[in-house]
Amino acid sequence: MKNIIELKNLAKTYQLKNLEVPVLHDINLEIKSGEMIAIIGPSGSGKSTLMNIIGLLDRPTSGEFKLKGETITLNMPDKKLAGIRAKTIGFIFQSFNLLPKQSSLANVLLPTAYLKQKNANNKALELLKKVGLSHRLNHKPTEMSGGEKQRIAIARALINDPEIILADEPTGNLDSKSGQQIIDILKDLNKEGKTIIIITHDEKIARQCMRTIRLFDGKISGDNNDQ
Ligand code: ADP
Ligand code: MG
Repeated sequence: MKNIIELKNLAKTYQLKNLEVPVLHDINLEIKSGEMIAIIGPSGSGKSTLMNIIGLLDRPTSGEFKLKGETITLNMPDKKLAGIRAKTIGFIFQSFNLLPKQSSLANVLLPTAYLKQKNANNKALELLKKVGLSHRLNHKPTEMSGGEKQRIAIARALINDPEIILADEPTGNLDSKSGQQIIDILKDLNKEGKTIIIITHDEKIARQCMRTIRLFDGKISGDNNDQ
């Protein structure tokens, strides 16, 4: 399989007024299409920063980044990044990031405001069915459980058919049973060919992934792909 993500000597330093906050150092990573990966590490180790860079939500300070073979340059315009992001990546966050006053259906349709597509409505219905929520189409997030909210978020992440799903602590706010349901859905999506990257600090989740990358103090301290 070909590399879908390649990072070479990647570094990130946040600039806070006069203070430089180095967060990622010398990250070298190759991820193949179809992998299911856990990124595990303590709080503050740089996991979300790394995910945001891979997801084109943030920019590295230096280094090389290729996504699907395309070089993502440091000065690529925001608009161009947003276009690539919308087509390529679906996001799932710990705190769901849903619009609380909109129906689950409307939430799933959100990304189609950017990338117009025919039959978006039917596709959203299909995806809500796939995550087991066909009976909750008109419910709002405030009327649903955490596990259900995360399943809406998964349907939303899938609406533009991204090749890559990035999930930042997707089970962090869930009890273990609903958390496992989310992981099971992600595993099924991986079987269908999606490349899945799950950030977690739960070893039990990491064990269910084919590969675990460990981050410590902004550096990769372990990768069972290298063994
Ligand atoms: P993790 O997700 O592993 O908990 P993060 O990537 O969120 O870690 O953060 C790594 C480090 O970077 C932390 O020390 C955090 O305080 C710092 N950091 C994160 N975001 C910013 C930011 N926007 N500006 C400055 N420092 C940040
Ligand atoms: Mg984080």
